[in-house]
Amino acid sequence: MSQEWNIRSRGHFCSLCQKPLVDKSPVVSALREVANGYERFDCHPECWKTTPRDWEPFSLWDGVYFAPVKEAKKEPLKKEDAGELLRQLVTLDDPAMKNVVYVLAVMLERSKILVERDAKTLDDGTIRRVYEDRRQGDTFVILDPRIRLENLAEVQQQVVALLSGTKTLGEVAGEEEHGEKPEAQPETT
Ligand SMILES: [Zn+2]
Repeated sequence: MSQEWNIRSRGHFCSLCQKPLVDKSPVVSALREVANGYERFDCHPECWKTTPRDWEPFSLWDGVYFAPVKEAKKEPLKKEDAGELLRQLVTLDDPAMKNVVYVLAVMLERSKILVERDAKTLDDGTIRRVYEDRRQGDTFVILDPRIRLENLAEVQQQVVALLSGTKTLGEVAGEEEHGEKPEAQPETT
């Protein structure tokens, strides 16, 4: 089964009139829940307003469309690596990595790579946050695992270890599983 439904790329043509989106112009984006995930719409604002529809979006936001840049912009290497790591992690969709995925997304949001577009509480009480890559426009639907504050530093260290290459995804996934033990023994010194 494909686990790639959590990432939806931004289209380059209006989902409604099929004409090209205009560089640096407003775009309305929407996610629609379908049987196996989400269907993404990117539309001219006028098309979104004037086209009748019989469904309610899971998520809806206004953005700005940027045409793809041919030559990769020179950004600090670290940021590109972090974005690439997030893509890998979201595609893997490994439950053991849910904390790492979320903390990495928050770090990318703080460094202005991602912007949070929406947050949804599902019927089972879990929260899904919709992040969008500011330049590329890709959307990531990420589970907010509601990390307890005392675990945050550990998860941040795991993210840093992954980014610096001192740990592999497998090693970190193993640590996360151990970290899931219900109650840690109180340490006596
Ligand atoms: Zn259109």
